[in-house]
Amino acid sequence: MEDCLFCKIIKGEVPSNKVYEDDYVYAFKDIEPAAPVHVLVVPKKHISCLNEMTENDELLAGKILMAIKKIAKELGVDEKGYRVINNCGKDAGQTVMHLHFHLLAGIQMGEKLV
Ligand code: AMP
Ligand code: ZN
Repeated sequence: MEDCLFCKIIKGEVPSNKVYEDDYVYAFKDIEPAAPVHVLVVPKKHISCLNEMTENDELLAGKILMAIKKIAKELGVDEKGYRVINNCGKDAGQTVMHLHFHLLAGIQMGEKLV
């Protein structure tokens, strides 16, 4: 999608600190880290948010989850633990309208909303 920041990052038109890439997924360091490890895991296909995923994206959904698992292992945080967050829509505070999952680790995290 032309005007999408994360699409531009995936295409290399905007710089990023890449941590992982495969045919389906691109992952890079968040520019404003909320934890010592803060990686954004995004599908290469432009999907604005979870609401826009369809049954045709079921394979992709699995690929994203498996990529998150792989990245956590590669970064050495799989044993100690990590948190995965997806903000969908206004009330959740989604600011970039390209589906993404925050992978947070490296610190003891506090309060959970759920
Ligand atoms: P969300 O609030 O869930 O939409 O998350 C968007 C995230 O993208 C925020 O954590 C931002 O810090 C991050 N972000 C915005 N622009 C960039 C960028 N150019 N490179 C890396 N991360 C970014
Ligand atoms: Zn996009």
